[in-house]
Amino acid sequence: MNTAVIGYPRIGKLRELKFAIEAYFKGNKTQAELLSEAKALRAEHLQQQASHKIAFISSNDFSFYDAMLDTACLLNVVPARYQDLALSDLDRYFAMARGYQGEKGDVRALAMKKWFNTNYHYLEPEIEDNTQIKLASSKPFDEYQEAKALGIQTKPVIIGPLTFFKLAHYLGKKEFADFKADIISTYQSIIKKLAELGAEYIQIDEPILVTDLSKADIALFTELYQGILAIKDNPAIKDKVKLILQTYFGDIRDCYNEVIALPFDGIGLDFVEGKQTLSLLNKNGFPADKLLFAGVVNGKNIWKNNYQKTLALLDQIKHKAAKIVINSSCSLLHVPYTLQNETKLTIQQRAYFAFAQEKLQELADLGTLFTEQNSANDRYKQSAIYNDNQTLFTREREGANHTVRQKVAALTAKDFIRLPQFSIREAAQKRAFHFPLLPTTTIGSFPQTPDVRLNRAKFKKGEINLAQYTEFNKQKIAECIKLQEEIGLDVLVHGEFERNDMVEYFGESLNGFIFTEKAWVQSYGTRCVKPPVVWGDISRSKPITVAYSVYAQSLTDKPVKGMLTGPVTILNWSFPREDISQKESVFQIALAIGDEVLDLEAAGIKIIQIDEAALKEKLPLRHADWHSEYLDWAIPAFRLVHSKVNEKTQIHTHMCYSEFADIIKDIDAMDADVISFEASRSNLQLIDVLKANHFQTEVGPGVYDIHSPRVPSVDEIKNTIEKLLSKIDKEKLWINPDCGLKTRGEKEVVASLKHLVEATLEVRKTLS
Ligand code: GLN
Ligand code: ZN
Repeated sequence: MNTAVIGYPRIGKLRELKFAIEAYFKGNKTQAELLSEAKALRAEHLQQQASHKIAFISSNDFSFYDAMLDTACLLNVVPARYQDLALSDLDRYFAMARGYQGEKGDVRALAMKKWFNTNYHYLEPEIEDNTQIKLASSKPFDEYQEAKALGIQTKPVIIGPLTFFKLAHYLGKKEFADFKADIISTYQSIIKKLAELGAEYIQIDEPILVTDLSKADIALFTELYQGILAIKDNPAIKDKVKLILQTYFGDIRDCYNEVIALPFDGIGLDFVEGKQTLSLLNKNGFPADKLLFAGVVNGKNIWKNNYQKTLALLDQIKHKAAKIVINSSCSLLHVPYTLQNETKLTIQQRAYFAFAQEKLQELADLGTLFTEQNSANDRYKQSAIYNDNQTLFTREREGANHTVRQKVAALTAKDFIRLPQFSIREAAQKRAFHFPLLPTTTIGSFPQTPDVRLNRAKFKKGEINLAQYTEFNKQKIAECIKLQEEIGLDVLVHGEFERNDMVEYFGESLNGFIFTEKAWVQSYGTRCVKPPVVWGDISRSKPITVAYSVYAQSLTDKPVKGMLTGPVTILNWSFPREDISQKESVFQIALAIGDEVLDLEAAGIKIIQIDEAALKEKLPLRHADWHSEYLDWAIPAFRLVHSKVNEKTQIHTHMCYSEFADIIKDIDAMDADVISFEASRSNLQLIDVLKANHFQTEVGPGVYDIHSPRVPSVDEIKNTIEKLLSKIDKEKLWINPDCGLKTRGEKEVVASLKHLVEATLEVRKTLS
């Protein structure tokens, strides 16, 4: 049985590409050196796949920064400001990715956006009215030929026109439809050229098909591909090349019939994330003359495939599709490269994981097993490969905690309800705290200066002991409290000096998480993240944050906020389990963080902030799935964390974006007392939405942007506060920056916060 891979990670097993590119940026590598290192990595990645006998290996899945950006360059979607730069092609490309400031000019970068429901970010193409769509780069051709020279016949992969042009940003009067003719002819010339070079298959990626589509979108899709696919009849390439339409990250329920009706030679469907893929297939059938690329090996998570389940699934698929190719569910870009460099995982643990390289073996195994299954004998059930795999899914994993499971099972509706209701609490808290109007605060972290990082690093390496480590942090906390008092903030924080990362810190302190050493996943450009793994049932053995919080509170009469990361964010920024539901997992985390909340409260901490920075990260792509698949457990998980606190304990939360207009009711239903969020960059649009929805939670829309080193002036902040006051009741408004300050320099932070307090004081005068 043939196998395929949609795309392979390009960053390298030890992030070689990242380091090469960054060295080039710093001037420590020449362009020629960078190009040759990239070429060597591509060769290694191709050979890796070839050695596992993958029949359909992609080329052109490499990128120096991002595939959407590559496609923009391929299609000549390069805004004038970059065309005008007298730079080499590669440097112009990097200018689009990161902006350019130097002797040749000063241009900002393209915007960066989240790629569907992943943590990968693409560059948003910009289309101007005079954008001339045409073939403008040779990347796919070069990389196809490069692979061919290695003796590897590949399927070049390109991002399809519907996805690319729907994700693009149109700066002028023209829209997608105005470019149709040029789009069709440009894609045709790409296909023709690849065919002439000898490509037998071409993969066109259209992940946009798994999102909610309008009738007009579907009509446009059909029209574009009817146009593009006409090239197959061109006498020069007739019968030479076959086209695969590849979808991933979900099912194509809006356009399944339109897709199978088009003259593609193969169609790639996602059976992992595509909840309805199998039923679409069963209901509508599949053309007998087409290849079905069945995405059954998860390209987004790191757990071993369950062969028994997958073989059963393939068996069902077989009844509808005559020609199957076993495929990854999406590009393997979204998982780390290899398990081979993980030296700290136990043998037990390793057995459960498959990163990109190990997934190649899974594809190969499944290919063999499925062939045996089809030859109408049960011999494969005797094979060691099959049986070893089965044991993983039948025996109980180390790390099970039955007490926690019982606690989750015993939860009832009242565990998710905080009493008394918000309005009563709000009044009680106003009496208890006596805050001035427009209380001022920050989001939690203060600058992580080199000494702070050094202290953590030394402790980790064992160069200092726990007492020395703690002593240093206490010193920093004391300075931080003193600074905040001098600045005149109303609600203080301890500064988070002990935390490297808001999720990793809690992961390391809870039972049930494990950490990898080299399991990096590309987030954008050269930036990679190394998410913790939810391995077992989650529990907390002892208080995590209480000592530092209590110490900070002992230094001041003003309230100091306890600072926690919420369960949804912890789960969303980790690799989740597959053996239990996300709902069960998040409730376990919620119970653990909930214990921390009660310990903080018992220790005299009166305000507790539970950050949900990543709450929106995993919102399903389709509107119809938002509640049933996600919000129906995510919001309750947050409520579970704080439902048992006293009415006077004030619960804050924080979110890193303000694009939650469409889930505003759900945000209010988190039932926090105060929420802070990023607002400075979105023109305060959200404020109207808050008003229209009678948002009850008190709000702190960030009054300045911490993502820039710029110090906002007093007048600027005053202005913002006044705008906020025109829409938000003064009794409900808090004043704060829009996110944590850890990445900023000390000087600018002090200046900005002083301005924030001064502006607030001036506005306050006009209110009383
Ligand atoms: N409390 C965290 C901090 O201030 C919140 C970070 C975040 O929202 N990403 O750093
Ligand atoms: Zn934030």
